[in-house]
Amino acid sequence: MPRGNRKNGPHKNKWRKSYKKRHLLMQKLARGRIQELIEFANQTHSDDPKLANRYVTIARNIAMGTKVAIPASLKRYICHNCKELLVPGRNMRFRIHNKKHYGTYISVTCLSCDHISRYIVKGRARREKEVKVDEKSKNAYNSN
Ligand SMILES: [Zn+2]
Repeated sequence: MPRGNRKNGPHKNKWRKSYKKRHLLMQKLARGRIQELIEFANQTHSDDPKLANRYVTIARNIAMGTKVAIPASLKRYICHNCKELLVPGRNMRFRIHNKKHYGTYISVTCLSCDHISRYIVKGRARREKEVKVDEKSKNAYNSN
């Protein structure tokens, strides 16, 4: 059978489909495994922080290898800089800020590397300002 006829044969899409199915299954398994590993890490951090950080690195490696995103609720408990597990009151400082021009945000400080990450809770006031400026400029343009 010449090679060219393979495309029109009965198995033309066989490999592609099976790859898709395998990939989806793999991602589904990975999601469960990542959640389990981070839960384990939270449980073991008080006894053995090294082991907890090992769990986190394994979870991160699985996420990267399978292109699965770590859920945002869990991602906040991993330091963005040193990739260690953050436990409130142990190696993490947790503050809520409310600033006029920035909106409400949570700042998470890693106490082992002093890295601060900020998560916005309520939209910034800046964005509203930008929109207002646009409207003004539009009106000016129309009047001219
Ligand atoms: Zn850190």
